[in-house]
Amino acid sequence: MDKCLSVIIPSYNEELMIRKTAETITGILEEHKIPAELLFIDDGSKDATWQKIQEAAKAHDNVRGIHFSRNFGKEAAIYAGLAYAAGDCAVVIDCDLQHPPAKIVEMYRLWEEGYEVIEAVKADRGHESPFHAFCAHTFYSIISSATGIDMSRASDFKLLDRKAVLALLNMREKNAFFRALSSWIGFKTTQVEFEVQEREAGESKWSTRSLIRYAMTNITSFSTAPMQIVTVLGILMLINAFVFGTISLIQKIRGTALGGFTTVILLQLLTGSIVMISLGIIGYYISKIYEEIKDRPRFIVSEECGRKEKDA
Ligand code: UDP
Ligand code: MG
Repeated sequence: MDKCLSVIIPSYNEELMIRKTAETITGILEEHKIPAELLFIDDGSKDATWQKIQEAAKAHDNVRGIHFSRNFGKEAAIYAGLAYAAGDCAVVIDCDLQHPPAKIVEMYRLWEEGYEVIEAVKADRGHESPFHAFCAHTFYSIISSATGIDMSRASDFKLLDRKAVLALLNMREKNAFFRALSSWIGFKTTQVEFEVQEREAGESKWSTRSLIRYAMTNITSFSTAPMQIVTVLGILMLINAFVFGTISLIQKIRGTALGGFTTVILLQLLTGSIVMISLGIIGYYISKIYEEIKDRPRFIVSEECGRKEKDA
């Protein structure tokens, strides 16, 4: 068999997009004679996404579908795609065509030249509210310093060699952050730029709440910076305690110690709040450890459709 590319497409409530996406991507890849399988991962959609995927699998030989038993999130969908991909390399692309499929060709050629991880980075971040942009910036600077790689323009749009795919699948952590881990694994890496397109149909699946949860999970799975904040706060408090301690001692010796009441209250409030924040952060990490230790599967597949390239 020729070298084959697996296109991994996480889809959640994308009934309007499946057919269009399947046709667009198949069209482009056929035109450039790139043998490929399309792997739609239905992340427990509540609309007709799964039916649309089944239809697409009937219409095109190279389309396969995986249906999750419920919504496990995009990261899980990507990992399922990697686990089921049969190709010599695999590319992850959004279902909403915000990642221009034409780029796959360029990325595939780079892979043929011998690159093992080809990352598509955003030329700009598209339309975002200032608040969203600020949060995204903070999030990515934390992640970037944890990984030592500039992540501010990173996306999930990546083409990985089989070796890189296996490396990712061999990681045992459950809260895997694909975007960062795929850089962390190393390999011969290069980048291509792409412009974020407008979403064609449907709407973004991210609410502010889910974005905050996403940020928290990924920061804690990649960096212990929040825990270090506790240490820094502790040290600051210690310095404070020395200063105020000396002052109040001097006041005591001089016999003018009455005004110290405010200081006591302030100190108590400060210490109390810092202790509580610290406990919260530690608790958060413990909950993450608890989740990892349960060793639950990342996703549960309830149905599959389309035939496997390898059986053909
Ligand atoms: N997605 C998913 N599971 C989810 C949320 C999203 O598989 O729980 C998919 C979605 O179908 C799309 C991609 O992830 O293909 C990106 O989602 P979206 O376009 O909503 O995010 P945005 O482009 O706004 O960052
Ligand atoms: Mg999108």
